[in-house]
Amino acid sequence: MIVIMKLDHEPAQRQAVVDRIEELGLSAQPIHGESRIVIAVLGQVMPELRDELATIDGVDEVIRISKPYKLSNREVHREDTVIDVGRGVRIGGKHPVFMAGPCSIESLPQLRAAGEGVRAAGAHVLRGGAFKPRSSPYSFQGLGVAGLAMLKEVGDELGMPTITELLSVRDVDVVAQHADILQIGARNMANFVLLAEAGKTGRPVMLKRGMAATIEEWLLAADYILNEGNPNVILCERGIRTFETATRNTLDLNAVALAKRLSHLPVISDPSHGTGKWYLVRPMAMGSIAVGADGVMIEVHPNPDHALSDGAQSLTPANFASLANEVRALAAAIGRPFAAAPAGPVAAG
Ligand code: PEP
Ligand code: MN
Repeated sequence: MIVIMKLDHEPAQRQAVVDRIEELGLSAQPIHGESRIVIAVLGQVMPELRDELATIDGVDEVIRISKPYKLSNREVHREDTVIDVGRGVRIGGKHPVFMAGPCSIESLPQLRAAGEGVRAAGAHVLRGGAFKPRSSPYSFQGLGVAGLAMLKEVGDELGMPTITELLSVRDVDVVAQHADILQIGARNMANFVLLAEAGKTGRPVMLKRGMAATIEEWLLAADYILNEGNPNVILCERGIRTFETATRNTLDLNAVALAKRLSHLPVISDPSHGTGKWYLVRPMAMGSIAVGADGVMIEVHPNPDHALSDGAQSLTPANFASLANEVRALAAAIGRPFAAAPAGPVAAG
């Protein structure tokens, strides 16, 4: 249920609504949109509450939200959410962004080479995995905290905000200390304890869709983060498991377009994990922007043939640069030009 306050309501009237909701053992979350303030009523809401709240002074309208996900629902927040992720980069709204970098951080020179390449090609956010969720316990598991330190160092050098995966509740603090955006991976989308802990940091959180999750389950997972009072949630479609084996996953562009309609949150598309094949990344990045994604996340490695993870889907910096040019041209042609790249220092060397 949401309570829409009148445009000219008094703060005390809003407080009266919050107090009544809390008296009933429910939780009230005010949401400040561009034009109006609404209060989301969260918990097991009785339908009769609607009539009662509608009589409180300052209340314009009370609407029942039909879908089970509430805070991520566009019905509670009609405008697109735009998230400031640092260094002047904003995700959501009118201008898409590139997130790019290696699947795994392998060494400082490797991350720096990838970072310098993607920065020069106009990428906005530097990605790099330090805690890696590998299917096999015998595969490279990531450099852990040492990798986080490298990400911070290269992000600072290049003036780029950074994103890295948070794999466990154990690592929330250290990841939040080193990275600008916390990534929750597909395998952890339904780790509700981790979602809440990530939410509590207040940091932007990018939530990847689980490989077998419905769109509704994905948006409910986003609500776990939002419910901690953290409005900075970015959705990421990264491909789902289907019967098809010719590609690693099936990048669900339906989900990108539908999530944009159902939710106010920014939606990033990840054609690298969505296809598993470097030569499919460019067409699917184009498709992603064409259907309304707020950006694409692309894996880039200075030497994909020697990557310790996901080499087959990684682009060289040169290939990323040409992808970026094509995708930017497409975006401009459909009236959604890419955001300017961060204004900080470019590569030192
Ligand atoms: C990743 O981005 O490196 C990753 C592991 O992605 P996903 O969780 O989508 O598999
Ligand atoms: Mn990867």
